[in-house]
Amino acid sequence: MDDLAIGIDIGGTKIIGGVVDASGTIIDRERRDTPTEGGMVTIERIAEVAASLASRHQVSSVGVSLAGFISKDRKRMETNPNIANMKGLAVHDELERATGLAIHLENDANCAAWGEYRFGAGVDSDPMVMVTVGTGIGGGLIIDGQLLIGAYGTAGEIGHVPVIPNGEICGCGMRGCLEQYASGNALRRFVRKAIEGAPALGSKILAMGDGTIEGITGPDVTRAAQEGDAIALAAFNEIGEWLGYAISGFSSIIDPQTVVIGGGVIDAGEILLDPIRTSLKKNSPMRSSHDMPNIVAAKLGNNAGIVGVADLARIA
Ligand SMILES: [Zn+2]
Repeated sequence: MDDLAIGIDIGGTKIIGGVVDASGTIIDRERRDTPTEGGMVTIERIAEVAASLASRHQVSSVGVSLAGFISKDRKRMETNPNIANMKGLAVHDELERATGLAIHLENDANCAAWGEYRFGAGVDSDPMVMVTVGTGIGGGLIIDGQLLIGAYGTAGEIGHVPVIPNGEICGCGMRGCLEQYASGNALRRFVRKAIEGAPALGSKILAMGDGTIEGITGPDVTRAAQEGDAIALAAFNEIGEWLGYAISGFSSIIDPQTVVIGGGVIDAGEILLDPIRTSLKKNSPMRSSHDMPNIVAAKLGNNAGIVGVADLARIA
């Protein structure tokens, strides 16, 4: 039974593992809290999840999906934004030692992109790009049927493409990155700013959260937009405009067939996709003579990373 593989998604608060078959279906799951100590304690916890699933199924390999930069050889964690003490850790070798199983490490946005390409909204599309719009922005590129890793292992970091010189400071240390203008955090910032400028217009969104401007969440903004709230819709238009602008930039280089939009913010569906398409068209030099990339919503939701990394591990 070589066609089962384990995919494990390591988040800031949860470690979620799944046994995935060759058609991308998750047939079993295991979940633990991510230990706050990070580092080797996290490695041991990941190994526990793998061992538990492997005790119930005959698996060939284990894929591990992590946020942050991974070394080009996919063995060492260079940086991780949401787990402590991971920098420089030899995650691949430590996990192989702890589990006795073949390990495949990959960046989380790349895993989601691969999952959508193989089993989700990007099937039969090539090149395919995925843009994951959550708290931050991740990205992954599939070109000629291959996940693009790049010369130094960092390809697909669409969230850190600069869109404004000397713009807002970004978590990566640079200024003006797309992530600062088109992420879920940016969406909330635009809403907060609009309410501060016109408090009377903010009553609807404020009523959806805890009543404070700081307490407004991404899902509050999505619900308000779905109910036609002007401030929420304007904020979605603004992040959509920026996303379309950035997508036009890389589309001029790689001419993707499909751009899959995923992450929590895509719960808004067409409310986000529409302004992206409008902006892409407006900013595309080839619009009069060539088709635009299809802009579609991701299909696999939170499972994309588990399904994608299991498949990458299986075919590695
Ligand atoms: Zn950045």
